[in-house]
Amino acid sequence: MKLRWIGLVMLLMVLGACQDPFRLKGSATILHEAGTPFTDPGFVAPDNQVTVSGSLDPMVPGTYTLTYTWEHDEKTTSLTRTVRVLDRTPPEITLDGDLTQVVCPLAPYAEPGIHVSDAVDSEIARRLRIRLEGNSVVYTATDASGNTSTVVRTLLRQDLQAPVLSLKGYETMDVPLNASFRDPGYRVSDNCGDLSDRVVVDHNVDPTTIGDYTVTYTVTDDGGNTVTLTRDVTVIDEAETIVYLTFDDGPSLNTETVLDVLADYGVKATFFVVKRSSRYDETLIRAVQEGHTIGLHTYSHDYDRIYSSVDAYLSDLQGISDHVYSLTGIRSMILRFPGGSSNRISDFNPGIMTKVTAKVNALGYHYFDWNVSSGDGNSTNTAEFIAHRTILGIKRGRVNVVLLHDGGGSAETAVALPLILDYLVSINALILPITMETPVVQHEVQN
Ligand SMILES: [Zn+2]
Repeated sequence: MKLRWIGLVMLLMVLGACQDPFRLKGSATILHEAGTPFTDPGFVAPDNQVTVSGSLDPMVPGTYTLTYTWEHDEKTTSLTRTVRVLDRTPPEITLDGDLTQVVCPLAPYAEPGIHVSDAVDSEIARRLRIRLEGNSVVYTATDASGNTSTVVRTLLRQDLQAPVLSLKGYETMDVPLNASFRDPGYRVSDNCGDLSDRVVVDHNVDPTTIGDYTVTYTVTDDGGNTVTLTRDVTVIDEAETIVYLTFDDGPSLNTETVLDVLADYGVKATFFVVKRSSRYDETLIRAVQEGHTIGLHTYSHDYDRIYSSVDAYLSDLQGISDHVYSLTGIRSMILRFPGGSSNRISDFNPGIMTKVTAKVNALGYHYFDWNVSSGDGNSTNTAEFIAHRTILGIKRGRVNVVLLHDGGGSAETAVALPLILDYLVSINALILPITMETPVVQHEVQN
């Protein structure tokens, strides 16, 4: 027993003496994962006089050979090591947003964001595939070494949000007997798309019979969410209310807003324009294209000059007429005097208004004053004040010409306009642009 132990110890001593003084550390064949830094395990040599040759790129899969050469006692001894750089790591796919996405029932899928990276494959973005399979989005990327990653995103197709429906005008509405019922309409929006064509309006309003009626507005979105609103309509014994909305002193930056509001309500107005700059020429053209009337106000709006003589007035009028004509091709014969025909600002030239009103009549123009003043000429008045004063000024059952302004200082007018229109549509007012057929509304000349 004891002898056997001694034999084993002696055998180990012999092996130790035989171990080569120049040898590799680590294995002669190394499998190395691509994309990670490679550190040579090195060698053992008594004097360290060893050169290592051979190149290795840990980013490029392949088989590399490293050669270790030991020069000693005028002898050369070489050892080699094989390094196999292997790409066994699949690409990494990361998604922006939640793995489960709530999307509208019929909406096309909009990718919230996808990123793919790979340890060694710089072309991996080109190898990404996105497939829509039922309610799943499947992302697959296979790198140049054939490693594949797959990530799945789940789509929850649902619309839990009801449409937002609101009425233009008021919830109650008066319709004059024998007038045509003009439904003021509605506004609708939905988180899952445009429903403006899907509102069902149902009513049995009979304008030839005095009485109470109900208009029902119903809209259902793709998720089956339904909203219903009603409007109470009363047919009353009253003559039709006709309203001409007129805007002086534009166009300006405020005119665009005014045009937007008029378009929203589907009504036409009249713009008595001035020429201050060419900055809003396109706005004036837009007004014509959208069916509004362009009337002539003044080229300069300089009272001292305009009312200094009949010739001075006519020359100013010709200036604005030519300007409108050059932009629109329309030779407008509808005008409004600066300050109105009843102005006293021209008193410095006695009788001038009597002369110019007669002159423009003789030339075939139709001039318009107003019978409803909005008070928007005073720039300190708020939109609520302007709306309130206009609504108080409207007389039901007659023709109303409303004086408003859309010059640069009249921002509040544009804000007041929806309030005014909500009222007008709620009395079923007939809102019209002035034409040459419109009966003139004129003040009594004071000078
Ligand atoms: Zn003016």
